[in-house]
Parts: sequence; structure tokens; C-alpha cells
Amino acid sequence: MDILLATHNFHKVEEIKQLLSNTNINLISLKDLNDEDDVDENGHSFEENARIKAEYYYQKYHLPVLADDSGLVIPSFDNQPGIYSARYAGINANAKKNNEKLLADIKDIKDRNAYFICQVCYIENDNIYFFTGKLEGQIAYDIRGHEGFGYDPLFILENGLRLSEIPLSEKNKISHRAQAFKNWLQFIKDRGII
Ligand code: IMP
Repeated sequence: MDILLATHNFHKVEEIKQLLSNTNINLISLKDLNDEDDVDENGHSFEENARIKAEYYYQKYHLPVLADDSGLVIPSFDNQPGIYSARYAGINANAKKNNEKLLADIKDIKDRNAYFICQVCYIENDNIYFFTGKLEGQIAYDIRGHEGFGYDPLFILENGLRLSEIPLSEKNKISHRAQAFKNWLQFIKDRGII
């Protein structure tokens, strides 16, 4: 079964391919299709942004499509940076800039509870489905560790380690993305498609 993964992010493609390695799903990436289109993620929620991407490529290729949107949410900080996680310090800001701005902006906030969230949108035969994954943790007061990407150097797991201090293979077992895609995979399996 062919399924298109609507992302330009090479790491996501590899991560999801690993998850599907024991199935008969043939994951097609935008790179495989030489598709360099950039979809404007102008939704107001993770769900809307995932759906915008999935619908765009579904209409273009008429294949079952998977798309995701993810980010960091800090409830005590008005649920920021939320859907603006990637561009928190500005449209072309890198992860270091985002991390530094976030640390400065929440320096007086004592409640450091936070979570990463991933919303997956799956479209097949004109039906739209959503799947969610969450990873709970705490935001640190400094930047530490070199693994991973984005806000990993700030994100403290239950065991006290940062996401940036564990190997990627371990992160991929527990991440919000892994959980959301596992929920989707279970749905596909339950329907006897694969
Ligand atoms: P997107 O889903 O690729 O659009 O990711 C949005 C942004 O959320 C990223 O640019 C990161 O800033 C943040 N983010 C999402 N997932 C992670 C993660 O696993 N670790 C750290 N940051 C993440």
C-alpha cells in the first residue's frame, strides 16, 4: 500500500520509515516525488495545520496522505510557543535563538510544566482522521546537551535527563511524534488494511 508522507523533513521520513519497517506500507516522501512545494501553514491549531498540509497533497496526488504538525506547549505561559514553536524568535530564527528567547521570556515563571504535542492528519478515500501524541516534561533554566533538535536542550524528561541528552533511537521510542504515528498505525492495522 502506497502512502505519501507530506513533509520535507528528512529526519521525520527516516523516523516514520523505521516505524513501518515490518509492514507492507510503501512510504513515499515529497523528495521521492521531487516535490518542493511549500504549503502555507496558516491554521490556528496543530490540527488545522496538519490538515492543511494533508489536504493539499491529497488533492494533488490522489494518494492516501499523512501529515503532521508539532510543537512545544507551556500551559503556565498561555500555551506558548504552541503553533509558533518553529518561528518563536522570528521567521528565520534557528533553534538556539528560539531557546534563548523562550528562556528569557519565562525566567520568572515558576511552573515549568510543558509538553510536546504532535497532531497527525491522515486522509484516505476522502475521509479525514486525526491522531495525537504527547510527551510531558519540564522546561529547564538553561540550555544543555547536543542530541536532537529544536527545544530538546530545554526539555527535561521524567528521569531528569534532557531530550538532548538521550540517543535519537531512545527519543524516537517515546516522542510525541512516535506516539501519534503509532496510534495511526494501530488504526490502520485494526482495519485490516495491512
Ligand atoms: P514541525 O512539526 O516540523 O513544524 O515542528 C515545529 C517546531 O516544534 C519545530 O521547529 C521545533 O521548534 C518544535 N518541535 C517539534 N518537535 C520537536 C521535538 O521533538 N524536539 C524539539 N522541538 C520540537
